[in-house]
Amino acid sequence: MAKPPVFNNFIDGQWVPCRSGRTFENRNPADQDEIIGLFQESSEADVNDAVDAAVRASQKWRLFPAPKRAEILFRAAELLIRHKEEFARGMTREMGKVLTETRGDVQEAIDMTFYMAGEGRRMFGFTVPSELPNKWAMSVRMPLGVCGMITPWNFPMAIPSWKMIPALVAGNTVVIKSAEDTPLSLVHFCKTLEEAGIPRGVVNMVSGTGPAVGAPLVRHPDVAMISFTGSTEVGQEVARMCASTHKRHHLEMGGKNIIMVMEDADLELAIEGALWGGFGTSGQRCTAASRLAVHKHVYKEFARKFIDRARHLRVGNGLDKKVEMGPVINAAQLETVSRYVQIGKDEGARLATGGNILAKGSYKRGFFFEPTIFLDADPEMRIAREEIFGPVVTVIPVDGLEEAIQVGNSVDYGLSSSIYTSDVNKAFVAIRDMFTGIVYVNASTIGAEVHLPFGGTKATGNGHREAGHAALDVFTEWKAVYVDFSGKLQRAQIDQLEDL
Ligand code: NAD
Repeated sequence: MAKPPVFNNFIDGQWVPCRSGRTFENRNPADQDEIIGLFQESSEADVNDAVDAAVRASQKWRLFPAPKRAEILFRAAELLIRHKEEFARGMTREMGKVLTETRGDVQEAIDMTFYMAGEGRRMFGFTVPSELPNKWAMSVRMPLGVCGMITPWNFPMAIPSWKMIPALVAGNTVVIKSAEDTPLSLVHFCKTLEEAGIPRGVVNMVSGTGPAVGAPLVRHPDVAMISFTGSTEVGQEVARMCASTHKRHHLEMGGKNIIMVMEDADLELAIEGALWGGFGTSGQRCTAASRLAVHKHVYKEFARKFIDRARHLRVGNGLDKKVEMGPVINAAQLETVSRYVQIGKDEGARLATGGNILAKGSYKRGFFFEPTIFLDADPEMRIAREEIFGPVVTVIPVDGLEEAIQVGNSVDYGLSSSIYTSDVNKAFVAIRDMFTGIVYVNASTIGAEVHLPFGGTKATGNGHREAGHAALDVFTEWKAVYVDFSGKLQRAQIDQLEDL
């Protein structure tokens, strides 16, 4: 058998092995016999090297004019377009989601890179009148310094790009840790930035585990801020570590999103939305529609058709054009999904379809699970409240919009919500009353556009937003600037005012 390729860390403009020389395997979740490659099992020493390089590079990069930084990023976006198919295929092999979805993941990176590179010629501050004559008042954005970034595996190129590109255009340098299950896509992204001409040390990438790489990055005194996307549990731990060193932190965490189907909804549309929201990426999206609140008047018809569609979903290797749903990411996730199915049964929800690991034939080398639907669930059940992060959808019957909104808002999370209705008044009530960072009308809970703010409330976030103009607030500090060109003491200026 051919030796698997070895992928190094990217530190100070060089692709280098980690100091310990240890590596870990990255295997295809659809076929565990396939090794994607060996990646560096890094530790604190490698994080320190990467941060030192980022500190050194920061002095020049922050003074390099933003429009010039942007030129490099525009070049990176063009290169991403050129490599899109290759990167999407690599991503399907390392994390399992189907090719149309991994192409979408790379496309999000392209969109974000073009969009944010445009900020190189904007990055507006504001100029306001001063209280005094002959005085100018304005505000400008300034970079933070070294930004540390920790990412999950479910959007292995989109999420790193959503953090790195706004940080870079604003004049920060970056040290980013890849997710254990998907290090290849971040290697691809960093190689693209390198090819585009990013100066040495401005972007640094270290692979490895959370405790060995993520935690030292969070604790490092020279890292000015941490941008984290992942589970709420780990996000809380990151926040605690940041609090003790007054480190700015940006958290994007878990979700338990809802689709509300009203009695006047176009049911075909709603079923389509529930299907792709629930089972796209095998349910492993922070925005996955893992709960449905369906009006009792249409509940039976909706449930019958939804179950039928879910039963016919083609599950398999995401590289196969006919496949609609890939595997889950790893053995631990398969085990979590199975455990929640048992919890749902024990709680008394009705398992209408699925519920089993797929282990026969070509499935036996991967981590496949049947698309699973629980009906007649109570909103208090754990399967209706906790993030499962797998192909499991819980359907809750409701009496109307008021109850649907109450159920929707009753969980700890607040990322995404959706309403299917033909009544514009109901749509606006949902827009107003859902306490989520994103609301969709007659569309599923998934599918963000890069020029709008992305993020959630409550246990999903800590008040920041990724993407859109809001991303600049995460990666810059405001500085107020007062310029007095009167040549007089302030007292004299005030006297002059009183004389008017
Ligand atoms: P995770 O929390 O297990 O891991 C996320 C990252 O944190 C990984 O890189 C991991 O190595 C690192 N990490 C783990 N322990 C750490 C520690 N002690 N210190 C520092 N870093 C540490 O999450 P995951 O399984 O990779 O991703 C799934 C989760 O991510 C889900 O909860 C999902 O909802 C969430 N997510 C949220 C968004 C969003 O925008 N809100 C987007 C995608 C995924």
